[in-house]
Amino acid sequence: MSFVLTPPPIPSVPVKGSDDRFAVHRIYCVGRNYVEHAIEMGHSGREAPFFFLKPADTVLAVPEGTVGAMRYPTLTQSLHHEIELVAAIGRGGRNIAANDAMSHVWGYAVGLDMTRRDLQNEAKKLGRPWSVGKGFEQAAPIGPLTRAADCRIGAETAISLEVNGEMRQHSVLGKLIWSVAEIIEHLSTAWDLAPGDLIYTGTPAGVAAVVAGDTLKGSIAGIGTLELKIIGD
Ligand code: MN
Repeated sequence: MSFVLTPPPIPSVPVKGSDDRFAVHRIYCVGRNYVEHAIEMGHSGREAPFFFLKPADTVLAVPEGTVGAMRYPTLTQSLHHEIELVAAIGRGGRNIAANDAMSHVWGYAVGLDMTRRDLQNEAKKLGRPWSVGKGFEQAAPIGPLTRAADCRIGAETAISLEVNGEMRQHSVLGKLIWSVAEIIEHLSTAWDLAPGDLIYTGTPAGVAAVVAGDTLKGSIAGIGTLELKIIGD
């Protein structure tokens, strides 16, 4: 047997302090998972978690100590940043109970759920899918993964994003409406989770637009940083 075309490359993320890489299976994202962000998007912040996906090859892996380059995408006048904790699944399963969920997590990273907000808003208004607003090229920048056992994160852990040195988003992980364990419980009722899945867990308030030339620096204390420069076409 042979493939009629050369198989595509396997999307992957570097592992901190190692030459190893984490092969990406799927990218799941949680919508509106911090109360203040839900409110800024016009919602109550009390709804059940909901999910959307980005194609695995939209991952833009930024190695430790480097600044990633993201091309300003087509079709949009409003490219928004959403800083997010990313959980990486090491062991798959379905109908995973929250109290067993953490044993399925391989590690964590700092991620950006980049969004063509104008296209997402149009899709919402027309009742259309979010794919064009969320699932475009390089829409899922991510820093190196740290093994869960090496992460020092908890309710007081700070998550923040600066643009050109100015603070835009700042919160703590304890403000997640649905915890990582609860997200995995809900998500695994709808899909079979598999090794290599990444879960973008939602963004705090303060989302806003960036333009070509801007430099973004996302941080989660105890995990690391993610630096990204937006470049013109
Ligand atoms: Mn998001």
